[in-house]
Amino acid sequence: MPQNYFQKEIETMSAEEMKKLQSEKLVKQVKHVYENVPYYKNLMDEKGVKPEDIKGIDDLHKLPFLTKADLRDAYPYGLLAKPLKDCVRIHSTSGTTGRRVVAFYTQKDIDLWDDCCARAIVAAGGSNEDVCQVAYGYGLFTGGFGLNGGSQKVGCLTLPMSSGNTERQIQFMTDLSATILCCTPSYAAYIGETLKEQGYKPEDIPLKAGIFGAEPWTEEMRQGIQNTLGIKAYDIYGLTETTGPGVAFECSEQTGMHVNEDHFYAEIIDPDTGEVLPEGSKGELVFTSLDKEAFPLLRYRTRDICVLSREKCSCGRTLVKMAKPMGRTDDMLIIRGVNVFPSQIEAVLLKEGYEPNYQIIVDRVNNNDTFEVNVEMTADKFTDKVSDILAMEKSLANAMKIMLGINPAVHLVAPKSIARSEGKAVRVIDKRKLI
Ligand code: ADP
Ligand code: ZN
Repeated sequence: MPQNYFQKEIETMSAEEMKKLQSEKLVKQVKHVYENVPYYKNLMDEKGVKPEDIKGIDDLHKLPFLTKADLRDAYPYGLLAKPLKDCVRIHSTSGTTGRRVVAFYTQKDIDLWDDCCARAIVAAGGSNEDVCQVAYGYGLFTGGFGLNGGSQKVGCLTLPMSSGNTERQIQFMTDLSATILCCTPSYAAYIGETLKEQGYKPEDIPLKAGIFGAEPWTEEMRQGIQNTLGIKAYDIYGLTETTGPGVAFECSEQTGMHVNEDHFYAEIIDPDTGEVLPEGSKGELVFTSLDKEAFPLLRYRTRDICVLSREKCSCGRTLVKMAKPMGRTDDMLIIRGVNVFPSQIEAVLLKEGYEPNYQIIVDRVNNNDTFEVNVEMTADKFTDKVSDILAMEKSLANAMKIMLGINPAVHLVAPKSIARSEGKAVRVIDKRKLI
């Protein structure tokens, strides 16, 4: 299969040249951060590291890590490295103020991000001949704008659909002959099922490729989507802290994702000791933004468990490959593409006058995530009047929707009916078996 690249010189660069490029960028970046981000300067000072100590990638391990807790402490401007007048956009993940991540972008940062997504689209066979339907959510979530930017860079005719309204998605897809679909894998599967129900066969569907990410998905799910839509389905990975989707993308080999390592340097560390592990080891994925201007995180711990590989890839790209993330070191769930922490549910319950006795049950039915929260009724709220119970459930569900951005089905259950555990409470029952 002939290979196309969006930025061939970078995507197929030799290991030595890449290391040289990364080293040059890192030296500059550390200086930029040290001079402009007092929060990180303090971390470096505490560790006794000065910008002059970082002469290249081999010195990266000397730098301190950043974690989600740092993002919380520094919220909202503490990690900003450019004056706000130089920033043109923000994106954010859902969450409480405690968990919220706000990322800032200069125009150069957006250009760099668009390039990353463009590489993913071209690797999936995209060109200016394609019609690219972007069905990730637009807004604070990075998915929609990220792929939109990449699609326009490639020169595809871009359909900025955003997520939802499946009937309209199908109408545009068929009327305008969309050839590439970008969305979460669960939404792709749902669109596929809907098309099937409407009598479409894979050969009637104009799509040839899909770029799906922002949540974990299995090989089986990939096969299912490929079969119903009659396409090749490519994985894409990213996180708001680094930019959004496009940090890593899959090529025709479909065996892991090439990291755009000229922009994001990847390390695997032991999550307990912080020690950098050799290639091929399983551990926590850590990213360093080598050239982002406004929100350049150095050694950011993603909490994703992963493996890196430098094995030669048949696509000709030399960019290091990351496996599909194999789990998380924290309790974050991804439900319908949205990050959900059990602590957020707890915060809502306490605010609404309930005890934090609850259980989250997540499943996948017809490729759609179901999201239920069982909550114990408190003695003072107890009633057996069904209409009152329904109203209380509805009001709790609304409060959770405001906090999380997605709607759970809330069930109030009798006081003391949720099993107490002796050790750590079982707050989450995830039946989706995604890993
Ligand atoms: P995004 O806007 O890209 O979804 P978030 O910051 O909301 O970013 O969520 C990032 C997290 O989503 C990652 O740390 C990872 O756990 C998960 N994620 C993103 N892409 C994938 C993927 N392709 N496969 C598995 N998990 C993914
Ligand atoms: Zn490859």
